[in-house]
Amino acid sequence: MSRFVSLMYHNLEQDPANRYSLPVEAFEQQVAWLKAEGYVIEGFPELEARLARGVFPERYVVMTFDDGHRSNLRAAEILSRVGVRATFFLTRDFCRHNPAFLRDGEIRELASLCSVGGHGVTHAPLSRLDAAQARAELAESKAWLEDVTGRPVTTMSAPGGFINRAVLRQARDLGYTLVGNSVEWWNEPYIVNAERLVNRVAIWQGMPPGLFARIVRHDARYLRARRLRAGALELPRRALPLRLYHGLSQALYRLRNVAPGKQVSW
Ligand SMILES: [Zn+2]
Repeated sequence: MSRFVSLMYHNLEQDPANRYSLPVEAFEQQVAWLKAEGYVIEGFPELEARLARGVFPERYVVMTFDDGHRSNLRAAEILSRVGVRATFFLTRDFCRHNPAFLRDGEIRELASLCSVGGHGVTHAPLSRLDAAQARAELAESKAWLEDVTGRPVTTMSAPGGFINRAVLRQARDLGYTLVGNSVEWWNEPYIVNAERLVNRVAIWQGMPPGLFARIVRHDARYLRARRLRAGALELPRRALPLRLYHGLSQALYRLRNVAPGKQVSW
């Protein structure tokens, strides 16, 4: 069985203040490189179909976008031009109330080009909420997106990567069959099939092509450095007040020098 990496993107625009925002050209170059290297690029529904069949290409990447920024439509157009798919996870209240995020018509267009999934109502950290609040976030974001698109929504990603077993169980009970996290590691198909949880590696602006290639090729040494950082954050993720947690996360990024720039979008 071949292991594979799932990539996590956010915005496609020139915004030096937002580490998660990539210029369109940088994204186009990454897609072109993946195609030239013979990678099959797919989203969550296609991954689910492969998990059911147990057949994976040697070179395989699962592409995702979080939050629902308006520039996501541009990304979907770029991807569909070259005949590939990705999954876009949308946060309801960003799309409803913030003009920088996708409107209903744009969401329908996006859903016709690629697939869409849930990313909470308010982008609250699900594993920090009580059971009723977490359930409401999961259920209401699903209902909203199904209403807007007229399609069933069965996939989601955890806002800020805040997920635990209890939330995962709730998500499954509500009809989510595949959930993306923010664990920066590769995926083994048999584990994903059993856990229904997909590890995803964040892509930042200014990432050198060589580094992007190491991620896609699931280079153990590089991913281990990122995993150590994530491991160091696991206890604070569960226990620290969120403001302190984000500060610590920033400090660790700087310390390990694995992510340039400033983080704003969580
Ligand atoms: Zn998010």
